[in-house]
Amino acid sequence: MVYDWFNRTAAEDGDEAPQQDAPPAEALSSAEAAVDTDSLAWAKEAYARLKAQQEAAKAAPAAPVQAQAEPVELAEARPAPQPEPQPEPEPEPEPEPEPEPEPEPAPAPAPLSLLEQAAAQRAERQQALLVDTPAPRASEAQDVSDEPSLGAFDESFTWSAEVLAAQGKRADQISLEEIDWLAKLRQGLEKTRQGFVTQLLENLGDDPLSPETLDELETALLRADVGVQATDQVLDALRKRLNAEVVDPAEGIRFLKEQLRALLDAPIQRCAQPLLAPQRGRLNVWLMVGVNGVGKTTTLGKLANLAVRSGYSALIAAADTFRAAAVQQVQVWGERSGVPVIANPSANADPAAVVYDAIGAAQAKGTELVLVDTAGRLQTKHNLMEELAKVRRIVDKLAPEAAVESLLVLDASQGQNGLKQAMAFANAAGLTGVVITKLDGSARGGVALAVASEADLPIRFIGAGEGIRDLRPFNSFEFVEALLSG
Ligand code: GDP
Repeated sequence: MVYDWFNRTAAEDGDEAPQQDAPPAEALSSAEAAVDTDSLAWAKEAYARLKAQQEAAKAAPAAPVQAQAEPVELAEARPAPQPEPQPEPEPEPEPEPEPEPEPEPAPAPAPLSLLEQAAAQRAERQQALLVDTPAPRASEAQDVSDEPSLGAFDESFTWSAEVLAAQGKRADQISLEEIDWLAKLRQGLEKTRQGFVTQLLENLGDDPLSPETLDELETALLRADVGVQATDQVLDALRKRLNAEVVDPAEGIRFLKEQLRALLDAPIQRCAQPLLAPQRGRLNVWLMVGVNGVGKTTTLGKLANLAVRSGYSALIAAADTFRAAAVQQVQVWGERSGVPVIANPSANADPAAVVYDAIGAAQAKGTELVLVDTAGRLQTKHNLMEELAKVRRIVDKLAPEAAVESLLVLDASQGQNGLKQAMAFANAAGLTGVVITKLDGSARGGVALAVASEADLPIRFIGAGEGIRDLRPFNSFEFVEALLSG
């Protein structure tokens, strides 16, 4: 029933949508061939279905937005609003040693009185810290301000529909959000595409690929910030192919797409988890790290929204206590999705203590996903790395049962520079993946390839806009199609 936006499946109705990771090459070529012949009919059918759905939704105006039960319950479960955000009794400076590390993960019954007492004490403290997020009513729990609406049956729609069809989706499996997102992604990559593919396609003309066109391709890839390593890899493959046979432009593009996909998928395949989704029924802690201004807080807010819309219970830990506005900013994002925020309003509060409380709250409530905002700047880089390492240690110690992810947020518009700067985080934060933001409006979308090949980290999500819905799990097939669409 609930559509899982992380896995892009409607899991509970047994009507499984296909996994969103790139389908195998053979599947693609046959699917692509089928799309050539049937794509228009497919797109028309999909459009008609979406139109009918929209009409039906209009006819039933009070259609409740699904998911979201958990955060509402969380907010309501609080005994008293406790609006006094008092400088509150200083969150014991060193939270780690606590002799009762309460090993029990979540809401299990096992009523040991000592543990209960400890939990009650912590819950009390958490009440004081839990930012007073007004309990959203089901109907307003989600931010609907940028709900997509069905546009015209135009080239943008048919392109998006084709990309979905090529991945094996049926016309009755697609949603307006997916169409809308793909259009956004393609539009977002337009600047990169203009400086890259458009020129490349012009140069290619109708003639077979030549060493000269490959030189031009090399320049174009480097200009799109694909990076030397990834560019070399792609060109080597193309040169080999060219030495063996005559390659016409269409085949050249197809082969190029295949190479780019392989590059992007390599780190994802290595970590044996094609998609990053919170594991249901278990505590997941996702740390968001990155330098200031890259879109870390925005990404966290978008992820919270994605989680709630996918039926996960979520909680935000406002652990960037260094930047004055960061806590308020996180609170606003929390409110937009009805996700509770654990924060400490006192100046220069210890981020580790915030994380400590957030994990305690999540364990007590059985929350599935804790999103942790971390500092992007401190007095010195050394301090910053120390702090990130400390936060990570606390998480590992307090929640050994949790699935922990440490996601580096990277601003695409900063290209290679941003990547180098951000890689300094790798050791301190034990990075497990990357989120690329601001793909819209950047001519450096190619940096995704540099991330995959140079940082060897899987790209997990991409952001292409400031709206709450402008973030999706990364899908190399869709990315490359958007990057190279004519
Ligand atoms: P932080 O300092 O890393 O937490 O960065 P913020 O989340 O505060 O974001 C900095 C700015 O980038 C804000 O103005 C955001 O609206 C903007 N931003 C974040 N993600 C995106 C994106 O995907 N596209 C665009 N265009 N802007 C974004």
